[in-house]
Amino acid sequence: MTPELVGPARRSVTARRAPWALMYHAVGDPRDDPYLVTVGPDRLARQLRWLCRHGLTGVSMRELLAARAQGRADRLVALTFDDGYADFLTAAVPLLREHGHTATVFVLPGRLGGLNDWDVQGPRRPLLDAAGIRAAEAEGMEIGSHGLIHQDLTATDDATLAAETTESRRLIGEITGTAPVGFCHPYGALDTRTLLAVRRAGYAYACAVDPGPLAGMYAMPRTYVGNRDNSPRLHAKRLLHRLRGAHLIEPAPHADRAPRPEPTALPREDS
Ligand SMILES: [Zn+2]
Repeated sequence: MTPELVGPARRSVTARRAPWALMYHAVGDPRDDPYLVTVGPDRLARQLRWLCRHGLTGVSMRELLAARAQGRADRLVALTFDDGYADFLTAAVPLLREHGHTATVFVLPGRLGGLNDWDVQGPRRPLLDAAGIRAAEAEGMEIGSHGLIHQDLTATDDATLAAETTESRRLIGEITGTAPVGFCHPYGALDTRTLLAVRRAGYAYACAVDPGPLAGMYAMPRTYVGNRDNSPRLHAKRLLHRLRGAHLIEPAPHADRAPRPEPTALPREDS
């Protein structure tokens, strides 16, 4: 088991086990989706019940990180929905509420009420508009930024990168009244330059998919969940998350105090 603290007790960074975060996109008819990012409502309901059966509560990434800082995140899983599809409000939120979960939705304030034109092969899906974003927040969901219009930020010039990170944060703040703390890298594409830009824009964390050695508070790994993910596959994905043991380099919560070690045993796997 990797200890919480790396190096001498007064180091100002720690390497902590990454929390388990699930990555969703659209909720609707999963047929004819070449990208396999649409989960049927029935399947989502079964996946949410699977979490409940295993004593897990789905929460927003913001809530999970706050709980984690207080050492009470053991039974929490972050649920995240990328792209801000309108079906998040109409199909996902009612199921989340019914099962006692919340989630983070990463929206595109440069495409309010628009379409997912970046997915060349379709299908076309409507995106949340400002009223939809406010309604999702009123239902207890966290609103995060996915940039302005869904671009690969590693391929943008500096001005575009700054606009995608800073301007999207400002626009969401105008819609909800609160600047978002979370960002999600479009396509999961990132490098040190984009990570720094996200941090500079004022976000507290950013989600990625499989960030490899860049894993950290601004590149949080997530587990893809699709319509094929039944109970055995969710078990396998949870196990894989544990076995891979991704760790996040992050500032020590109390660098000037003695570290509080993490539990040395993995949580018990319920039946
Ligand atoms: Zn996306």
